[in-house]
Amino acid sequence: MITVAEAIRILQDNLPEPRIINISLEDAFGRRLAEDINAPEPSPRYTSSAMDGYALRWDDVHGVSVNEPAKLSIVGESQAGVPYENSVGAGEAIRISTGAMVPEGADTVVRVEDTEETDGKVAVFACKKQGQDVRYAGEEFAAGTQLMEQGLVLKSRQIAQLSSVGVKTVAVYDTPLVSLFITGTELAHYGDGEIKPFQVRDSNAPMLKAAILEAGGRIAECMHVEDDFEVTVESMRKALQQDCDIILCSGGVSVGRHDHVKEAAEQVGFEQLFWKIRQKPGKPLFVAKKGRTLLFGLPGNPVSAFMCFQNYVIPSLAALQGVSHLKKTISAKAEVAIENSGKRTDFIRVVITDEPNSIPTIKPISQQGSHMLSSIVKADGYIAVEAATTLAKGELTDVFVF
Ligand code: AMP
Ligand code: MG
Repeated sequence: MITVAEAIRILQDNLPEPRIINISLEDAFGRRLAEDINAPEPSPRYTSSAMDGYALRWDDVHGVSVNEPAKLSIVGESQAGVPYENSVGAGEAIRISTGAMVPEGADTVVRVEDTEETDGKVAVFACKKQGQDVRYAGEEFAAGTQLMEQGLVLKSRQIAQLSSVGVKTVAVYDTPLVSLFITGTELAHYGDGEIKPFQVRDSNAPMLKAAILEAGGRIAECMHVEDDFEVTVESMRKALQQDCDIILCSGGVSVGRHDHVKEAAEQVGFEQLFWKIRQKPGKPLFVAKKGRTLLFGLPGNPVSAFMCFQNYVIPSLAALQGVSHLKKTISAKAEVAIENSGKRTDFIRVVITDEPNSIPTIKPISQQGSHMLSSIVKADGYIAVEAATTLAKGELTDVFVF
């Protein structure tokens, strides 16, 4: 049996390379950039007015006041979307709107409030400085400036900026593709009709489907597989045809006579990375690799399956989405002493009490059985307590938040 730390290291050394795809910016919401992005254009693209008013020459208006206004001839207009085609000469002004192009010759904008228009002339009462209310081309950034770094998640504000400089497609990490492989002859699945007394309701398929989505993955298919060696091998061949990043199996990885996942995986060409970890719950976790496909054989007990998903599958799905370091922990204080007298790392599920401006505290859930889903439903996260150690009351520890 290997330790939790060894298992994580082996897994990290064997993670598949993320797949990178080019997608339209329109479909890019929530995706993570797989490239740095440099501005294809300067921003702003052209020199424009920041105000509704008049574009004119500073030489004609400097020193004006309410008592001594300048009077300029209005020779045209620059509207947002309809520029003035000529140049503004001495003694001239044009009407200009916010965002409209400042024409040749003009170097300053005076807002409407500081002017009065009569008979094709405009009286200018105030102008503080040359270049007033002009937005210069490239003043925010020049073409070629790096705007965003690889790894950034595209939200509305990033999408706005990329659109503003004419980016049409972006390279992002592809959503990891997962095949679900649910074993157990005893299972009754959703929609199966009346349940027999010896059947077990399948909670892992629905749980893992949701967990994959929560972790940013997508599901290629979900197979229900009987505990029969030949059937398991055949189903696994089919699962392989999906060309998934991950095949996620539930059940059948322990040492029972009807546990076939490990042998079937080896039969279709998977190489074991590890089997059995010194941990509780989830000791029988089996991980193997074939080509770039990783296979996780989660133990069937729903809580064991969930905890293995949290500790090993989530970081793998994150890595496939370009996240190399997943910060999932918070620091919290033990409200009571928490003892692990066993020989394996114990993933103890805890409730987190979090009050404003204080360090969060944790308390273990009273029932920790790996068949008891309430131990994860009632919990907010878990802590890893090493074998034969006790976390003292008041001691700080890392908590993995669900
Ligand atoms: P296994 O790992 O296949 O030996 O299963 C261990 C325990 O988990 C058994 O009690 C199974 O009935 C139960 N179990 C396995 N798969 C599921 C599932 N999909 N949903 C609920 N319980 C399951
Ligand atoms: Mg089973």
